[in-house]
Amino acid sequence: MLEDYNVSKLSIGTLGSHSALNILKGAKDEGFRTVVVCKRGDEIVYERFRVADVIISVKSFEELADDKIQERLLELNTILVPHGSFNAYIPMEKLLKLRVPMFGNKQLLIWETSRDLQERWLKMAGLRLPKVFKSPDEIDRLVIVKFPGARGGRGYFLANSPEDFWRKAGNFLKSGVLREEDLRDVHIQEYVIGVNVYPSYFRSLLHDEVELLAIDRRYESNVDALWKVPATEQLQLGLNPTYTVVGNIPLTLRESLLAEILRMGDAVAEASERIAAPGIIGAFCLETVITENLEIYTFEISARIVAGTNVGIGTSPYAYLRHGENMYMGRRIAREIKEAAEQGRLEEILT
Ligand code: AMP
Ligand code: AMP
Repeated sequence: MLEDYNVSKLSIGTLGSHSALNILKGAKDEGFRTVVVCKRGDEIVYERFRVADVIISVKSFEELADDKIQERLLELNTILVPHGSFNAYIPMEKLLKLRVPMFGNKQLLIWETSRDLQERWLKMAGLRLPKVFKSPDEIDRLVIVKFPGARGGRGYFLANSPEDFWRKAGNFLKSGVLREEDLRDVHIQEYVIGVNVYPSYFRSLLHDEVELLAIDRRYESNVDALWKVPATEQLQLGLNPTYTVVGNIPLTLRESLLAEILRMGDAVAEASERIAAPGIIGAFCLETVITENLEIYTFEISARIVAGTNVGIGTSPYAYLRHGENMYMGRRIAREIKEAAEQGRLEEILT
């Protein structure tokens, strides 16, 4: 596909959601034409902020894989930048077969969709992980019980014994929040008591460096609101925490934690080379919990831009330290694409 492209007239494109404003603004800052495939009714976001030169409206994101839409994107010499809505709304088989070139390493998007593969990757990198319980009957401490599919943490629950697990799972089945088949794919993780920290990195193949660009934490409903309800009422209401992401909050870390955070990014990138050469291309994020003993536990990895980097649109302290003013994840991605195009190395960063 790339051979038919006019490399001096590339567009950067993405789905209209998640971190599209970040990606499109960054592309414009680097001088690219931009194209967004968005759901009918959502055009207002991309019009109002003036980040999209071309808006393609669709009924559902899955239409990205339709021939008609792909042809249009190819005509515009588009390079797609994937984000969380790609694997949330487009089946993996369709994503893998897209003809429009995509920034990043698609093989690692597959790794990201499986908790078992993520765990293997993070262990390979030598990171500290919460203990995983193979069966509910082994639960011997506080655990968080997760179910497949990106349902925003709804239906997750905490349990501290096998009995507690089966009682809560039974209630969720009865109320219809969970289905029998969900129980088969349940993922049971030690619940680490600490604060959530999400460092976002950019791994540059062209410059052979892993940059730390932003750190955020999430604002989740209702878990971030429960403390406002006094304990007596919480007990009466039988409230359960849910983890629906509503937004993100920027964060800077205690500086003495940064050495480990930087080494973790390097180790994950190095392990990714062994999993699927050339490894991670571009953005990735680690989801961590840091305890009172300053131990960093990593419970998830995203092998692409995360919406938490939206807190850095314009700049963030860490992007500023590395690049000076006006650098952020969307722009960093576009800069890498621009440099690769100038050096005739585009095929190294696209899949
Ligand atoms: P959306 O396009 O908003 O449905 O998001 C697609 C996926 O990304 C879902 O799994 C969301 O839970 C996740 N997501 C969206 N926005 C954020 C955010 N601001 N922070 C963290 N995750 C997000
Ligand atoms: P996830 O769907 O894995 O991103 O988890 C949703 C939310 O649950 C996270 O943003 C954290 O607030 C919390 N969480 C997930 N795993 C753990 C864990 N092992 N220990 C403590 N909190 C967790």
